[in-house]
Amino acid sequence: MRSSRPSPRSRLYKHWRGKSKFYCAGRCITGGEGECPIACLGGLSCASLATWICILVPSALYFAFVLPRLQRQNAPALLVPASLALFVATVFFLLATCCSDPGIIPPRKFVLATGNRAQLAELLGYDLLGPTGEEPCGDPYMDAANMVPEALRAEGYRWCHTCQIIRPPRASHCKDCDHCVLRYDHHCPFVNNCVGQRNYHFFIGFTTVAIFLAIIVLPAILWTFSGEGENGENKEAHGSFGWYRVVVLLGCVAVAVAALMLVLLWIYHLWLVFNGKTTKEHWRQLDLDSEPTLLAPRGPRLLRPFDLVDEDALA
Ligand SMILES: [Zn+2]
Ligand SMILES: [Zn+2]
Repeated sequence: MRSSRPSPRSRLYKHWRGKSKFYCAGRCITGGEGECPIACLGGLSCASLATWICILVPSALYFAFVLPRLQRQNAPALLVPASLALFVATVFFLLATCCSDPGIIPPRKFVLATGNRAQLAELLGYDLLGPTGEEPCGDPYMDAANMVPEALRAEGYRWCHTCQIIRPPRASHCKDCDHCVLRYDHHCPFVNNCVGQRNYHFFIGFTTVAIFLAIIVLPAILWTFSGEGENGENKEAHGSFGWYRVVVLLGCVAVAVAALMLVLLWIYHLWLVFNGKTTKEHWRQLDLDSEPTLLAPRGPRLLRPFDLVDEDALA
């Protein structure tokens, strides 16, 4: 006999138990790495902590010591707004890549608990839970055969055994985050998130502006702290190669190596964009679609953290 008690309902993000994590009361979602030993930084991975250090430490040195000196030595007036704009844009794009939904496809239990199967079918153009009335049996081979209609399978749609849903041809399951992502490119530990259909343009924006920021900041720091940028009294006073200079210069060289790797990554992604491929499609030699990866629409947000879920259905 059915109980007359209404089923309790609460926000989806409160029940999310994936490896990826919601922060700021469900407004931000970031990837599933949490191996960072500094507990107060929560879900940050060590790689993403290194990214933030490579951006914030040289920028702090540049704005606190180098830029004022350059201004005193009659640097172009445009240098201050240009460096500030590049720094703000780099932080914005990094935060946007790190904390936005890369195109998560909600797992089966959340689709059923929110009751938005029909809306998702309308957005995606197919029913991601499979034929109405059919339930997966749990066997990956049987479900792959029975739950994906023949017409969809011919177009490259596949069954995700972990999420118990049918995913589109260019989507993939991220092992680090434990969910499927639309037009999955790769999981990037340096931004602590998947890079997919809904944050790929943020990722490209971040790599582009970070390279320009490095081009402005690193040579200026090297020039100043190697003693070339000092004149008169300062040069006399700091003539010896103080320990702080060695630390700054070594740090600068390490960040420059990281920036060089970023340039190579950026060139590789330009090549991918030009060829309309994702990183995964290139490495697996998949030729799925010629739809552009950068200049295509972001697509709808499928996982809505503020949707109400039926707690009984989820349990
Ligand atoms: Zn999946
Ligand atoms: Zn991921």
